[in-house]
Amino acid sequence: MGFAAAMTFAATVLTLYPDMFPGPLGISLAGRGLAEGKWSIETVQIRDFARDKHRTVDDTPAGGGAGMVLKADVLAAAIDHARSLSPEAPVIAMTPRGRPISQARVRELAAGPGVTILCGRFEGFDERIFEGRNVEQVSVGDIVLSGGEPAALMLLDACIRLLPGVMGAASSGAEESFEDGLLEYPHYTRPTEWEGRTIPEVLRSGDHAKIAAWRKQKAEEDTRLRRPDLWERHRGARDQSASGARHKDEDLGS
Ligand code: SAH
Repeated sequence: MGFAAAMTFAATVLTLYPDMFPGPLGISLAGRGLAEGKWSIETVQIRDFARDKHRTVDDTPAGGGAGMVLKADVLAAAIDHARSLSPEAPVIAMTPRGRPISQARVRELAAGPGVTILCGRFEGFDERIFEGRNVEQVSVGDIVLSGGEPAALMLLDACIRLLPGVMGAASSGAEESFEDGLLEYPHYTRPTEWEGRTIPEVLRSGDHAKIAAWRKQKAEEDTRLRRPDLWERHRGARDQSASGARHKDEDLGS
């Protein structure tokens, strides 16, 4: 038995709808990985940690307004239970108020022991839970879902595909979108001509250096046009490392 066999990425999901898991993650490559023990999933029914006979998990918002808020005491009991199952895993709450999820954070999580995910419903969580239980807040984008479950599935999917042995060699490729701060270049496959549209000539040239140069140029151009936010950050990082290299040269010269 090697080290790899002992490493199972353990997902724990705290939810009012445990039937939603593994859901789509029980299918295809993630599903096979699950069956093979490359990752595991456990759900925790938040309602099991309610303290009254009505099993209440929510209450009206302080200060008034629409909707209901998940109670801090109930959430805390559920989180404490999850931490006893998986003490090393970071606890992450899905919320549109959180830090936008990034491929860099997904990579960190995938390299770790697993993740415990708290799924909101209604208007969301009592704010005190985040500091009170050291919970990281993560958003999956500037959209509002009806619950944290699809967001949890999305985060888990992104982690699982990076686990060793879950996908083919192609999976963790450094050329993928976001890995170098850029969108990936576009892809084409046969037929060479489809409805009068052809595959760019260079991709059929067999000239690997030229193809690599074209792909790099397309990745940069598409990022600049489609995602000026990513492009600015990429340029900033590039200029900084260039000036860092200059400083080093100067140091060497003195
Ligand atoms: N009133 C909240 C939205 C609640 S939506 C607000 O305006 O910020 C109900 C639940 O869906 C949230 O508690 C959260 O768990 C989940 N959710 C909705 N949008 C999300 C997003 N963009 N990212 C992550 N989770 C989200």
